[in-house]
Amino acid sequence: MPYDPDNIFAKILRGDIPCDKVYEDDHVLSFRDLHPQAPTHILVIPKGAYTDMDDFTANAAPEEMAAFFKAVGHVAREEGVAETGYRIISNCGVNSGQEVPHLHIHILGGRKLGRMVAAA
Ligand code: AMP
Repeated sequence: MPYDPDNIFAKILRGDIPCDKVYEDDHVLSFRDLHPQAPTHILVIPKGAYTDMDDFTANAAPEEMAAFFKAVGHVAREEGVAETGYRIISNCGVNSGQEVPHLHIHILGGRKLGRMVAAA
């Protein structure tokens, strides 16, 4: 799937729409999810134009990948969920139900999260 430069996270990266920013560096932006599913629900996105984890792991430079995953750990520690435990989710492609076609990792925590995958 080609990258859609008008997706909502691309607009956030361009500053066209606001976000509740948690963390930023040269390669990564992190902000709170608009519709939190847990007391802590934060998104981490690369600044590069990658549609999903498949695109990113195939095409991103090593420094982009390192920065992305280091940011996930950093944010989880800073937000206090590393101590109590958290879950990361990245929906990729049609079967996952991915809604926004710009790679993002959800960090969820602050309560017991239940089963990893709902029964079909
Ligand atoms: P996914 O289904 O994995 O693509 O998740 C997309 C996530 O983006 C959902 O959890 C939405 O609540 C969240 N979301 C959509 N628009 C915004 C926005 N403008 N700011 C923050 N989070 C958003």
